[in-house]
Amino acid sequence: MKIDFAKLQYQYQLYKEEIDSAIHSVLDKSNYIMGEEVKELEENLQNFTGAKHAITCASGTDALLLAMMALDIKPGDEIITTPFTFIATAETIAFLGAKPVFVDIDEKTYNIDPSKIEEKITNKTKAIIPVSLYGQPADIDKLQAIADKHNLKLIIDGAQSFGSTFNGKTDSNLGDISTTSFFPAKPLGCFGDGGAVFTNSDELAQKIKMLRIHGQNKRYHHKYIGMGGRMDTIQCAVVNVKLKHYKDDLAKRQEVAKKYSEELRVKSEELVLPYVDKRATSAWAQYSIRINDEGQREKVQAKLKEVGVPTAVHYPMPLHLQECFEYLGYKEGNFPIAEKISKEIMSLPMNPYLSDEEIEYIATQI
Ligand SMILES: *Cc1c(COP(=O)(O)O)cnc(C)c1O
Repeated sequence: MKIDFAKLQYQYQLYKEEIDSAIHSVLDKSNYIMGEEVKELEENLQNFTGAKHAITCASGTDALLLAMMALDIKPGDEIITTPFTFIATAETIAFLGAKPVFVDIDEKTYNIDPSKIEEKITNKTKAIIPVSLYGQPADIDKLQAIADKHNLKLIIDGAQSFGSTFNGKTDSNLGDISTTSFFPAKPLGCFGDGGAVFTNSDELAQKIKMLRIHGQNKRYHHKYIGMGGRMDTIQCAVVNVKLKHYKDDLAKRQEVAKKYSEELRVKSEELVLPYVDKRATSAWAQYSIRINDEGQREKVQAKLKEVGVPTAVHYPMPLHLQECFEYLGYKEGNFPIAEKISKEIMSLPMNPYLSDEEIEYIATQI
């Protein structure tokens, strides 16, 4: 068998007529920038997530920048986040001149550990940025309580988790601002780069909309230092089509994850399967398991590759050990759990279209 990791081409073929017609409609109108499809998508995203405002933007990275710019994050400010995430989460903090302050992760969910946050709060701390890793929100109850107690902002990096929930609310509808990404391989992807910022605050929404278009409140009148951060109309048209099918996609991802867990549960003591908190649902961006036996992961990956099962590692090096963050002065041993998980974690093929036979095959090969 030869397994496809994300089945993006398969998905395109499935919705080809609808997607082609949506793209052609933009071409026929040539409304490439801020066309009506952009507004349509923003309304559709609001309806789907329950967030009062959805503002599309050029990528999940820009979404993080816009969120922090809207909250006036400035050089010297400190932002608490997880070292076990994609670089964009901490890179954008540093890009704005602020300082990423890392906190180790929870060994079960791999998300930021709220019990280790308060000791890192100083009078320069402005915000906490949890990441909903692999699709599962962090412990938002505890994070919001800490943010409220210390008067900090909560920005949720939901790049991997569109449609996930915590206590019945989508993670786009939690915190002060939440962000997502429509990078093709995310659960809800476009055909290039795209992203969105969510908030329930009218004031922040208005500011984010201006920041996205060079800080302008009126053409050629610039209230803020902003950026060129719009999402293309064509990309919005694609997401409008995919969003119609997304509830179904999410349900299928749940099914795939459930089947994986059933198949793998009995296989081996060295396997650690994903854990989802009872208060949360995951969007299952990844189904990531651990090979809890040092040095064995790479061997398992190589063997799986030989039998047609692609795997990936999200992420092999925690951010505090990255060269670009050397200046922060962290060293190996600072965040033992993130370091351990980064050596053991491995993502299996995950998409809504994996068949039971494929999942059984993958499990058997493992
Ligand atoms: C993908 C990702 C981003 C960045 O999204 P882009 O659309 O690729 O810019 C940010 N944070 C996390 C956790 C991600 O996985």
